[in-house]
Amino acid sequence: MADNIVWHNHKIIRAERASTKNQKPCLLWFTGLSGSGKSTIANALDVTLHSRGYHTFLLDGDNVRHGLCKDLGFSDEDRVENIRRIGEVSKLFADAGLIVLSAFISPFTSDRRMVRNLFPAGEFIEVFMDTPMETCEGRDPKGLYQKARSGEIKHFTGIDSPYEVPEQPEIRLDTSIMSVDQCTDRLISFLAERGLIS
Ligand code: ADP
Repeated sequence: MADNIVWHNHKIIRAERASTKNQKPCLLWFTGLSGSGKSTIANALDVTLHSRGYHTFLLDGDNVRHGLCKDLGFSDEDRVENIRRIGEVSKLFADAGLIVLSAFISPFTSDRRMVRNLFPAGEFIEVFMDTPMETCEGRDPKGLYQKARSGEIKHFTGIDSPYEVPEQPEIRLDTSIMSVDQCTDRLISFLAERGLIS
């Protein structure tokens, strides 16, 4: 970090920003293999929350790689930096009072912990998309597994780059046996049980 940089305390604090929206901020962090359903479920939850009047924001892997993280590749080092930036941006949105949904493969436990540690206890909700690899590869919605198998793409998570399975995620969803609606209902119930939505 550069020298001579001093943190300014803002006059309006985090809780005040959220309270004008009548909601509690949190981050739902969707992690899992490509094709496990992160984007699909995050989008479905986003639609449900939005329709109920909650102020949300969805951050999605491919989209941030078009802008904020377009200088980053898929090496281990770049993946760490990618998640660090997304974690910080998620925190800013939560500080602004929003319910944030972030959908990123985020294969490394240490990176997910880094983001968790940016949030007050109970506000980071790790959603592990525990869909079997065979299902993800069978779906191959973007044709990426096929490219990774043929060697056209290197460092592909699950093929030639590791995925470290979350040990204690707040929620586990297997989209090979749960429909989109069942997953969304599960998430909505969890948020309500935690008192994050009413
Ligand atoms: P990821 O964001 O994890 O890469 P996507 O959401 O982009 O995954 O892709 C998941 C694919 O699986 C989509 O094409 C989606 O339509 C399909 N799919 C089939 N059944 C389900 C389900 N129950 N939940 C989520 N996705 C499903």
